Amino acid sequence: MIYRTIYLLIYLLMEVGATMTNRQILFTSRPTGEATAANFTLVEAPVPELADGQVLVQHLYLSLDPYMRGRMNDTKSYAPPQPLNKVMIGGTAGVVVESRHPGFAAGDHVVGMGGWQLYSVVGGSARGALRKVDTSRVPHSAYLGAVGMPGVTAWYGLTRICEAKPGQTISVSAASGAVGSVVGQLAKARACRAVGIAGGTQKCDYVVKELGFDACIDYKQHRDPRSLYGALKAATPDGIDGHFENVGGAVLDAALVRMNDFGRIAVCGMIAGYDGQPVPLNQPSIILTSRLRVEGFIVSEHMDVWPDALAELGTMVATGALKYRETIANGLESAPEAFLGLLRGRNFGKQLVRLA
Ligand code: NDP
Repeated sequence: MIYRTIYLLIYLLMEVGATMTNRQILFTSRPTGEATAANFTLVEAPVPELADGQVLVQHLYLSLDPYMRGRMNDTKSYAPPQPLNKVMIGGTAGVVVESRHPGFAAGDHVVGMGGWQLYSVVGGSARGALRKVDTSRVPHSAYLGAVGMPGVTAWYGLTRICEAKPGQTISVSAASGAVGSVVGQLAKARACRAVGIAGGTQKCDYVVKELGFDACIDYKQHRDPRSLYGALKAATPDGIDGHFENVGGAVLDAALVRMNDFGRIAVCGMIAGYDGQPVPLNQPSIILTSRLRVEGFIVSEHMDVWPDALAELGTMVATGALKYRETIANGLESAPEAFLGLLRGRNFGKQLVRLA
């Protein structure tokens, strides 16, 4: 790790001064239905000279996240659409190559929203644009996952919406993923029963045997709603007090029926419908009859909790109390296919792209 960083710094210092070429993936057409690799175009462009206050960052990792699919649509949402012919939005972990901002120096490890490209030029004072991170106890890439946006998402939904308390049962869909895996482990740390729902034996085995969930249901083995409900019932003998929804559709239907009175559902994601498929709810009347609290949330609208959440998540990762898994694609050109794979469940844990 240290040798890799030193090598990278020497390489970067050699590059500074020469005209540097950036490689970028632009978003060039909006999908109708399923997104495809044809919606993206790989281009080269010179890295611009720095102005005062700016920082040049070389990206080591790009984070691929389901929200990117929503940004590809030109429809009303909680955030504006990704503009056409611009670098695709994305979280990045990188190293400062050159700085004309007093708060950053060459060699600093940082995370930001650098997008699908090898380098970014960032205003060092822009709010939330660039954050220095300590990679001595937490691996750099984890700041894009368990100790980053997905981890805080899990923390917020579990503590603020599900209000997990000792002895309660918490269920979560997409349980082996970046968000879901943290939800279950945080629930266990709060002395809850944690039940995951995931696609495939391998993912479910990981969730129970490595992450310490109490049970995991492989929804792919329960295509029939009654079978899925039966499996969830067996795994939640005392019902569900808090459900963390990442997927929507059949899984949410089954969870609704198992909810205890006055239970809470954190609606975090509806990935089953991100390509435009309808995600119907079969029995919404249960929300009434079980007096449920159902609340959607967007993690970036709750910046007040980030410091507390990141402190807990960082300590847990550093001490080995919070485990995570990564699927890493290699090279910028692999980003579109890796992203499409994420939308189809081909990732196993946090999906990243290694860029250097
Ligand atoms: P994951 O690492 O969990 O990867 C996505 C997983 O979703 C896949 O591995 C797959 O798991 C499952 N999946 C994909 N497509 C489908 C489908 N059609 N039907 C059922 N399951 C599917 O992603 P993240 O942890 O990054 O994100 C999880 C959820 O959290 C997403 O819905 C995302 O949009 C949401 N999110 C919301 C935030 C917020 O602020 N509200 C912030 C961050 C994330 P499997 O193989 O187990 O089915």
